[in-house]
Amino acid sequence: MLVDQAHASGGEELVSALVAAMAFAAWKHQDQRRKGRSHRPYINHPIAVLQLLWDVGRVRDPATLTAALLHDTVEDTDTTLDEIREAFGADVARVVAEVTDDKSLPKAVRKQLQVEHAASVSVPAKLIKLADKISNVREVAADPPEGWSLTRKLEYLEWSAAVVEGLRGVNTDLEVAFSDALLALRVVLA
Ligand code: ZN
Repeated sequence: MLVDQAHASGGEELVSALVAAMAFAAWKHQDQRRKGRSHRPYINHPIAVLQLLWDVGRVRDPATLTAALLHDTVEDTDTTLDEIREAFGADVARVVAEVTDDKSLPKAVRKQLQVEHAASVSVPAKLIKLADKISNVREVAADPPEGWSLTRKLEYLEWSAAVVEGLRGVNTDLEVAFSDALLALRVVLA
């Protein structure tokens, strides 16, 4: 009985955090669209990352799941890490910081740093990065960005695979899902 109650209240806390993070991300990304030809609403992507973590990776850590919804807010909107810390706490902010590229650096440098840093980030950050790459590779296959040449798509594929090499060892199911997504993209591009 006591255990059930503790479980229920823990569950309620998680739902509250996810509802708040979803509303926050939807508000921050409200004017943004994905790069794909169909210009889907941006919020579809953080929700897809959350769903991958929950359904495929069976991740249940509240900070990881909450940070998944927020993972692009600092990099791609006017959101600051202080805002995230105030609203969602230091643990979530630390993870969001780890998955945020430094936009003051040139794009090629940022991409290289993602490859170099992948192995040294925390487990929550690795899980989010894995799910992020699965979502992005799936999107390039299903709804590619307008104007991307075959070469650019192949470069994206190789770069994603290089980042994921550094993320291995934290969640086999997500790694398999990434390999499947990569294979599906290779088939589409062949
Ligand atoms: Zn993302």
